[in-house]
Amino acid sequence: MIFFFGTRSSTLLTDKLADTNCVYCNERDTVYITVISGYFHIFWIPVFPTGKQYYSHCLHCKQTLSRYQMPVTYQNGLSEISQRTKTPIWQFIGLMLIAIPILFGIIAVIFAK
Ligand SMILES: [Zn+2]
Repeated sequence: MIFFFGTRSSTLLTDKLADTNCVYCNERDTVYITVISGYFHIFWIPVFPTGKQYYSHCLHCKQTLSRYQMPVTYQNGLSEISQRTKTPIWQFIGLMLIAIPILFGIIAVIFAK
């Protein structure tokens, strides 16, 4: 039997950093933060999340920075956005599909006595 499994990612949120200048081109209110969530899948069904990644990008100069490359001026907005972004429940669907038959089996064994 062939199993298709691996990791995929989806964009959770893209939001503007308010009142922030780009560190490269110094344009105001052109920096956006994108939150990407990775997940492990089996047959393209998400099983569990593998973590979030944060990127900033400037619409004017197209500079893109990862979380650890971002300057201190981006960190306040980034922490607010990261608190607001929750891992979506659909990334646990595979775990639920595995857990539900196990729970029904346990309940059936308990009540069969
Ligand atoms: Zn820029």
